[in-house]
Amino acid sequence: MGAISEVKTIDELGDRLKNYMDQASINQVRRAYLYAEQAHDGQKRRSGEPYVTHPLAVAGILSEMHMDAQSLMAAMLHDVIEDTDVEKDAITAQFGEAVAELVDGVSKLTQIEFASKAEAQAENFQKMVLAMAEDIRVILVKLSDRLHNMRTLGVLRPDKRRRIARETLDIYAPIAAKLGMHNLRIEFEDLGFRAMHPMRAARIESAVKTVRGNRHALLENIRFAIEDRLRKEGLVAMVTGREKHLFSIYRKMSKKPFKDIMDVFAFRVVTNNVDSCYRALGIVHGLYKPVAGMFKDYIAIPKSNGYQSLHTVLFGMYGVPIEIQIRTHEMDVIANNGIAAHWLYKSDKQAAHMSGQAKAQQWIKGLLDMQAKASDSIEFIENVKIDLFPDDIYVFSPKGKIFELPAGANAIDFAYAVHTDVGNACVGCRIDRQLAPVSTPLQSGQTVDIITAPGAQPNPNWLDFVNTAKARTAIRHFLKSREGNEAVALGKRLLAKALNSLGSDLNELPSNAMAELLGEIKLDENTLLYEIGIGKRVAYLTARRLINHGDDKTPAKQNSALAITGAEGLVLNYGNCCHPLPGDPVVGYISSGRGMVVHLESCANVAEHLNNPDKCVHLTWADNVKGDFHSELRIDYQNERGLLAKIAARLNDSGINIEKIRTEEVDATFGAIYLLISVKSRIHLARIVKTLRKLDAVLKVTRVKHY
Ligand code: MN
Repeated sequence: MGAISEVKTIDELGDRLKNYMDQASINQVRRAYLYAEQAHDGQKRRSGEPYVTHPLAVAGILSEMHMDAQSLMAAMLHDVIEDTDVEKDAITAQFGEAVAELVDGVSKLTQIEFASKAEAQAENFQKMVLAMAEDIRVILVKLSDRLHNMRTLGVLRPDKRRRIARETLDIYAPIAAKLGMHNLRIEFEDLGFRAMHPMRAARIESAVKTVRGNRHALLENIRFAIEDRLRKEGLVAMVTGREKHLFSIYRKMSKKPFKDIMDVFAFRVVTNNVDSCYRALGIVHGLYKPVAGMFKDYIAIPKSNGYQSLHTVLFGMYGVPIEIQIRTHEMDVIANNGIAAHWLYKSDKQAAHMSGQAKAQQWIKGLLDMQAKASDSIEFIENVKIDLFPDDIYVFSPKGKIFELPAGANAIDFAYAVHTDVGNACVGCRIDRQLAPVSTPLQSGQTVDIITAPGAQPNPNWLDFVNTAKARTAIRHFLKSREGNEAVALGKRLLAKALNSLGSDLNELPSNAMAELLGEIKLDENTLLYEIGIGKRVAYLTARRLINHGDDKTPAKQNSALAITGAEGLVLNYGNCCHPLPGDPVVGYISSGRGMVVHLESCANVAEHLNNPDKCVHLTWADNVKGDFHSELRIDYQNERGLLAKIAARLNDSGINIEKIRTEEVDATFGAIYLLISVKSRIHLARIVKTLRKLDAVLKVTRVKHY
C-alpha cells in the first residue's frame, strides 16, 4: 500500500477510480468531496494545508483497496460531523442512509479514542472497536483515516504524536492483523515505532542498511539459484527477497542479538497454483538441505486470519539459514490485504454488488471453510467469531474503565458488574450523561453512570430484564434475605399476639423461658421467629410451650388480634378468592412455607379452620394501612353502548387502576362487567361504587367475593 503515492487532487482520485468504478459512482464521490471541501472551508491541518486534503487522502488509501463508492464518500465526510456543524440528518438527506451510517460509525470510533487511557485495556478496546462497527467498512475507513494521520504525524507536538502512536500500536495494528491486513499492520507498526522511539528506530535502520549492503550480492546469488532451478524444472514462479520490518526486528531484539536476527536470508516464491507450491517445495529441498522440524504447511492448515503459505528453512552456504515462503498469487494477495482482498480482487459481477457486511461475512466464511477442510479446530472458529464480531458489548464507567457485558445488557447488569453494593443501591442511571431508564439496552462505547442512594433496595421487577447471572443472583440473594427479615418481624408479632391471647406477654416472660425452649428445639431465636413468620411453626403452640400452658383454652379475643399495617411485605399475602380490604373483618390463614394469607372472616376457604388456632389467627387492620388492595366489582348493565369507556373515565378521574376487565353478556340488552381494581380501603371502594351507580346504563354494582 505504501508504494502508491498520496492522492493530492480530486481529479487525480477520479482518474484512479476509473480503473474499477463506473462514472456515476465516481461523480457521487466527487460530490461528497465538494461537500466536505465546503464544510471544512477555512479549516487547516497542522501542516498548513487545507483540511480537505486529509479526507481526500483517506479516500485515496481506500481506492488502493478498491473499496466501493459509499466507503469513499464516507471517507470524504468522515470528519464532517465531528469537526463542523453539519449534522447526520444533513448527510442522510444529501448522500443517503448508508453513507450517513458509515460516517456516524467512524465518528463514534473517533470519539472513543479520546477516552482511551489505560494500556492494559487495549485488548478490550480492540474488541470494542470491532463491536461498535456494525458494518466492517466502518473499520476500513477508520483504519485508512488512522493510516493517513500516522503518515503525517511529524507535524504534531511530541506528546500528541506519542499518544497517537501508542494507540495505533495498541489498538489499530492488532485490528489490522486480525483482519489479515498484513501490509497495513506493518506500516502501522513501523510508523508507530518511529514515533515512539525515534532514536532507536534510526539506529536499527542504519544497522540494517549496513548489513543489507554487505550481503546484497550474496542474496542475489541465492535468489538466482532458486529461480534458475525452478525454471529448469519447468515451474513458473516469482522469487523475491524478503526484508524484516523495523518493528519486528526491534521486538525480536529483546530475545536475540541483532546479528542473529539479521543473519538469515529470506525469500518468497509465488506460483500459479497449489500443486506448484508443493512442487516448488520439493525443488528447493533438493537444492539446499532443509532444517529438520522447521517445515510448516499453512496451506493445508491456514492461520486464523486466512493466511496460507508453505514455510521451510534451508541450510545455506556457510551455515546461514534460508527461510522460504511458498504460496500462490491469490494467497499472496490475501496474505497482504486480508479482508480488503475481497474488494481488491473479486472480479465477478456478483461480488461487485455485495454489501460490505456480506463481503466481510464471505471472508469469514472463507476462513471457516478453509479451516473445516484442514482440521476441526473449534477453538479456531470461536476465535474468529469472538475477534471479528463479538457478541459482547463494551461500555465505560465514568472513570474510563471498560466493562465487558453480554449483548442486551442494561444499566442494572452494569451496576452489578461494577460491584454488588452499587447494584443493590442503584436508583437510576445516566447513559452518555443523559438520564435513561435502567432497562435500556446498552450499546458499545457508551459511558454508563449509576446513580445510587443510601438505603435503596433492588426492585424485584429487575429480575424481568437483567441479563447477567451476576445481577440475577445478587438480586435474588438480596430479596431472599429481605424476605427473611420480614418473616422474622412477622413471626415476632404473631408470637406476641399468641402470648397475649393466652394472657401472657412476650416482654414479661420469665427470663429463662425462651432460652429453655430454644434449647429444647435446638434453634436460635431468629430462626424460631422466622419459622413462625413463614408458617412452618405455629405461633399458638410455641406460645403455649413458652408459658407452659397445659390446657387447650380457645384463644383470641378480637381486641387482642394482630394488626395488619400493609407493610409486612412478601410474607403476608391477600386471598385472591375474597380480596379482603382494610376495614373488612379478616383472619390470617397460616400456610406452611408460604407465610400468612389474609382472608375475609366470611370466606368459605377458611370456614373449616376458623376455630383451629394452629391454622387461623384473628387479625385487625392498623389505623393507617399502607398500600393498594385488589377488589373485584360486578356491574350489571342495560344497553352497554359506550359504557366501558365511561367507566374507565370515571375510575381514571378517581385515580383508580383497572387491573383486569371481563364482560359477560346475558342477552342483547343485559350483561355484566367484572372489574379487578386497586383501592386503598373499604371507604375508598364505597365511593367508587357510588360514582359508578350514577351511570345511566348501570343497574347494580356489587363487590365480588369468589367463594
Ligand atoms: Mn480524520
